[in-house]
Amino acid sequence: MTDPETALDGFRRVFGRPAEGLWSAPGRANLIGEFTDFNDGFVLPFALGWSARAAVARRDDDRLRVASAQRAGDGPRAPVFEVRRAELAPGAGRDWFAYVHGVAWALDHAPGGLPAGGADIYLDSDVPIGAGLSSSAAVECAVALALHDLFGLTATRRELATAARRAENDYVGVPTGLMDQMASLCCTVGHALFLDTRSLEARHVALPLSAAGLELLLVNTNTPRTLAGSAYGDRRDDCRRAAAQLGVAALRDVGPDELDAALAELSDPTTRRRARHVVTEDARVLEVVTLLDAGRPEAIGPVLSEGHRSLRDDFEVSSAALDLAVDTALASGALGARMTGGGFGGAVLALAPAGLAGPLGRAVADAFAAAGLPTPSTSPVAAAGGAARLR
Ligand code: ADP
Ligand code: MG
Repeated sequence: MTDPETALDGFRRVFGRPAEGLWSAPGRANLIGEFTDFNDGFVLPFALGWSARAAVARRDDDRLRVASAQRAGDGPRAPVFEVRRAELAPGAGRDWFAYVHGVAWALDHAPGGLPAGGADIYLDSDVPIGAGLSSSAAVECAVALALHDLFGLTATRRELATAARRAENDYVGVPTGLMDQMASLCCTVGHALFLDTRSLEARHVALPLSAAGLELLLVNTNTPRTLAGSAYGDRRDDCRRAAAQLGVAALRDVGPDELDAALAELSDPTTRRRARHVVTEDARVLEVVTLLDAGRPEAIGPVLSEGHRSLRDDFEVSSAALDLAVDTALASGALGARMTGGGFGGAVLALAPAGLAGPLGRAVADAFAAAGLPTPSTSPVAAAGGAARLR
């Protein structure tokens, strides 16, 4: 993690005055439960040690001024993007600052209204951007919590997550579920967050990995997720069609014991594969939670690998790089491995005996070099805490 103080220094340099405070919100990896959130299903993300920091100070006027260390350009100071809060409106574009403007807009439009005021905001993040680790939710949640605290808003973490999601869905225009924002705001150290995306009930599930001599490794394939955007919409449509044909509100409503009968009702082979992924993936989330609750983290490995096969063959959202990273991790001694996030590139999560990061990372790098793929990066990841005020 980069030094959080750099965000305070950056703020001072850009805005010529000290920030009033510093907030941090993590990216996340999803242990299991992929593409289940838009089917009202279950997810099990955990917060990463990488986070977005927002250094923020209130203003006397109506303006929002935003700068980011990751969008600093070549000049001596990061450029500042300014907007009057009264002028905030969805559909203003998908530039990075829309994620920040969108949060202010969503707070204004939250049920009951959670209006903040003008503010100067400086961002600095070490969440890899565009790797499926939710750098976008990290930014949104750091800003949401900062505005909440500075302007004395009284919202629950779940309400803040909902506002942050609306920023992304309605303001920026990227259709995503609530998982990323809930993970960023609600996770606790050493735990994954078991979230029912229908009821929004959430429970912390202990990840007793080090006691079992295990660790999670994250392999960032460093391959772009170019197809992810359009495929996401297609998969959503496939799932909606499957649910409609089966006469259920969402695929969540098909139990694993009803799967065969449901598949027999679906005429189109593609729709059948999509439904099979979602139904079995929900069951895998429940199985992993049961195993973790029973203190048997080593037993989740095969469930993770089965999840990858389902994403690869039934949901068809993997890529050659993701498959190669999974296969090489397993051949190097991982107990289980799967792509995590939206797919078509991004990252792989592997459950491995502690100490395997070096050799496994080298094996994946060698395999990638032989296949002419970009150099991947492998690091151990532990379940971190959710968004917090640092200063
Ligand atoms: P992911 O959330 O998986 O990393 P997304 O495409 O959802 O990928 O979000 C990435 C976008 O979020 C970036 O293109 C940028 O607009 C915004 N973003 C993320 N981190 C930062 C940052 N540190 N500074 C500015 N914008 C950021
Ligand atoms: Mg994102």
